Amino acid sequence: MTPQPDYQCDVLIVGSGAAGLSLALRLAPYYQVTVLSKAEVNEGSTLYAQGGIAAVFDETDSIESHAEDTLIAGAGLCDRDTVNFIARNARACVQWLIDRGVAFDKETQQNGEARYHLTREGGHSHRRILHSADATGRAVETTLVSQALSHPNIRILERTNAVDVILSDKIGLPGQRRVMGAWVWNRNRERVETCAARAVVLATGGAAKVYQYTTNPDVASGDGIAMAWRAGCRVANLEFNQFHPTCLFHPQAQNFLLTEALRGEGAWLLRPDGTRFMPDFDERAELAPRDIVARAIDHEMKRLGVDCMYLDISHQPPDFVRAHFPMIYEKLLTFGFDLTRQAIPVVPAAHYTCGGVMVDRHGCTDVNGLYAIGEVSYTGLHGANRMASNSLLECLVYGWSAAEDLLRRLPETAAPQTLPAWDESRVMMRMSA
Ligand SMILES: Cc1cc2nc3c(=O)[nH]c(=O)nc-3n(C[C@H](O)[C@H](O)[C@H](O)COP(=O)(O)OP(=O)(O)OC[C@H]3O[C@@H](n4cnc5c(N)ncnc54)[C@H](O)[C@@H]3O)c2cc1C
Repeated sequence: MTPQPDYQCDVLIVGSGAAGLSLALRLAPYYQVTVLSKAEVNEGSTLYAQGGIAAVFDETDSIESHAEDTLIAGAGLCDRDTVNFIARNARACVQWLIDRGVAFDKETQQNGEARYHLTREGGHSHRRILHSADATGRAVETTLVSQALSHPNIRILERTNAVDVILSDKIGLPGQRRVMGAWVWNRNRERVETCAARAVVLATGGAAKVYQYTTNPDVASGDGIAMAWRAGCRVANLEFNQFHPTCLFHPQAQNFLLTEALRGEGAWLLRPDGTRFMPDFDERAELAPRDIVARAIDHEMKRLGVDCMYLDISHQPPDFVRAHFPMIYEKLLTFGFDLTRQAIPVVPAAHYTCGGVMVDRHGCTDVNGLYAIGEVSYTGLHGANRMASNSLLECLVYGWSAAEDLLRRLPETAAPQTLPAWDESRVMMRMSA
């Protein structure tokens, strides 16, 4: 046992993306929260999200329609109750972000009223995606980070990896164990340290980095899934990895995504000879769910023996393209492509981990006091295939529902007094094996 943990807090949140930081901000008025981040605080998939967040904000749309589209995209493997739960709570959670200061794009109606501009993405039967131009994740992450950094009850430890969670007992069923904190790797001091907490939340994002070609940043290496599994938690649906159909094909741009909203605003997918192919695969053509589009691209690449297909929005007015996709337009120019004038070479790449750590409606795992929220978790929302813009939403809804549960339970949860010391021989054994 270690006499004194290196860090102590009420709730330890591993991960500083949309899931981790939205939870931290909801808990901080009441409890001391420590947030770990493997790289800089803003680095994670959230920062790179382009398209937006799905929620019903239009009177011609409905929660039932949002739920139905999600169920169809998930290929019959979604959990209907979870889907309804998230669709029902979407608007309130997006409103929470708006209240924190995230500026979603607005448009002026004919009657002069300004309303949120809702874009459309694959699988959605309505326009229901709120967005900040084509850099929604940046708007969300920078807002949450700046609020978390200035909150006196939130301590952020950057470049600090959680190595494993610490359990009250290594033997017995997971439900008989309680989490007591985590071992963390302090890169600056080059040693494993202990962090004691009354609850631990894994918000570590997905695992797409296990693939060579991915749209995800390096931190998306599945650490939370591995830690939960080692602690005895059930994991589910790990075979369902979503491939994004349109990643830029360029030797210097291994993971630059071309958002689905481009197709929502009219972009076509073309063969090298300039002919469209999506109408041959699905009646929704370019707006079919992304698994169908990714498979169609892959099919055509293999059939024709070519390296890529092409995404073309050059038939839209240049001002429209630049106004809706400013970040993508600028970035493509650095690679020598003009989005307003030419078709862009694209390939599918690993994008989203649909499965993960099994949790209940509040993000609780099989181990007492251990939660998992955001992309690391398996809630039942995505089934075999995530519908576009539902994942940031899942982060926010579970950030809220986990906070509700923690606020109920923490008053009865004592802080651990002592923690088992890190056993360095585990590492040495691996190195010598
Ligand atoms: C290019 C791109 C575009 C996308 N576009 C959209 C979109 O338009 N709409 C949408 O809904 N979704 C989109 N997604 C998916 C969405 O961005 C993610 O599912 C979501 O941001 C995940 O948030 P998160 O908080 O779960 O994890 P992340 O934002 O990935 O954050 C994970 C955090 O965990 C930390 N971490 C990981 N392991 C450890 C460890 N061992 N110790 C300490 N910290 C650790 C990381 O450092 C990071 O802080 C997109 C994803 C990508 C990659």
